[in-house]
Amino acid sequence: MNKLKVCYIWDENLIQHCDRLPAVVGRASMVHNLITVYGLLKNVQVVRSSPATYNDLKSFHSELYLDHLKKLTDVDDDYIPDSQDEEYVYDCPPVSDMYQLVTTIAGGSITAAKCLLLGIADVAINWCGGWHHAQRFGAEGFCYVNDIVLAIEKLRQKFPKVLYIDLDVHHGNGVQDAYNLSKSVFTLSFHKHEPGFYPGTGSIEDTGSLSGKGYSCNFPLKSGYSDTTLQYVFEKTFPMIYSKFLPDAIVVQCGADALAHDPHGGASMTTDGYCKCLKHVLDKRKPTILLGGGGYKHTNAARLWTTLLALVTGDELDENIPEHDQWPSYGPDYSLVVEPTLAKDTNSKEYLDKYIAIIESNLNCIKGEFNNEPLIKRQKMEDKKYFSSESDTTKVNTNDTKHNEEMKRSEKDGFAENCSLLGQRMFRGSYSKCIETPQLEDLKDVYEFVD
Ligand SMILES: [Zn+2]
Repeated sequence: MNKLKVCYIWDENLIQHCDRLPAVVGRASMVHNLITVYGLLKNVQVVRSSPATYNDLKSFHSELYLDHLKKLTDVDDDYIPDSQDEEYVYDCPPVSDMYQLVTTIAGGSITAAKCLLLGIADVAINWCGGWHHAQRFGAEGFCYVNDIVLAIEKLRQKFPKVLYIDLDVHHGNGVQDAYNLSKSVFTLSFHKHEPGFYPGTGSIEDTGSLSGKGYSCNFPLKSGYSDTTLQYVFEKTFPMIYSKFLPDAIVVQCGADALAHDPHGGASMTTDGYCKCLKHVLDKRKPTILLGGGGYKHTNAARLWTTLLALVTGDELDENIPEHDQWPSYGPDYSLVVEPTLAKDTNSKEYLDKYIAIIESNLNCIKGEFNNEPLIKRQKMEDKKYFSSESDTTKVNTNDTKHNEEMKRSEKDGFAENCSLLGQRMFRGSYSKCIETPQLEDLKDVYEFVD
């Protein structure tokens, strides 16, 4: 089998901003350092990330939210949200230079999408992405921007049907909500689902609404789920969904908090379980984006994402972690292996089989068509239902057409500009093995799909 073309998305600013995220301070550099010290960057194409534009962000997030983020430039560490900050519920305190943080992180996953659009990559990886709880109007669950939805929207310029797979221990609610009415993005999430466990959504009955009915699939699992359990349900459900939906591209959120010992998790997986699932995805040889996500034991997130990268590149890794600046953090065993916990996996085969049968029956109800309208248009149609007066509705429609035209124009300009920038900047990067500058004429293929 031919080797996969792998793009690894990187930029100093991307790492630095991701390191500032309050829930995972310092994690991004730890992950990048472990990948570097294992020598894995020799076998990938390092692609420098560019920040997302305002228009990129607007393809999902509301302008109200984005404009509010711009105001948060200088925030004290001990800032306490007030009534003006209702977007920052519970676990998402504002931090300084919020807008830069959000554009940089979103830019990483959008850059990954561009690598697939241009055919530079078979697999593009952004371990700084995967913020699946963020909503259109605000931050949620440690997530300030939904880089996943933004990347999927970019992918859909060329790939009409996208399969989103979420391996994080928490339900991928932000992504599912975005595509709740959609037939063109199928969301599949495996997660712990127990009373009181965040976010509380993602039950087996949760399968999408109206035109998107049947295009969301959730596998709720009980505490302590192990590699064996996830592999079993993944191997039963993924092939069924794949052959029914026939995606043109796949996005996998590889949240590391289902690993054993995660402080916010409660599952008992090891890197092996993630590898086995991901291998099934890679075997399909479809354009694929891999993203990070949760993972609050930072050393284990680094172990997982280094191991997954090696799986994609076909590298063998020494179990003993090579010495580097952060090596002491990997004690006491200094090993790449994540051991499972001793907690019992409470998912019985009967329970799993029952849910597999429900999923199979749900899939059989799906008809073949899919909706290829841009997300922003669908969202505005959805909003329209909540506006009371007719004049408001007309206003939304008028703005919608104008807005879409503007978006198409700026998308084209912005995309071409960014790609040429991408090429120029990569040659100035600190990694010697850089790709050729993407040629503008190569972009024509991409834009045929937009028209
Ligand atoms: Zn999570």
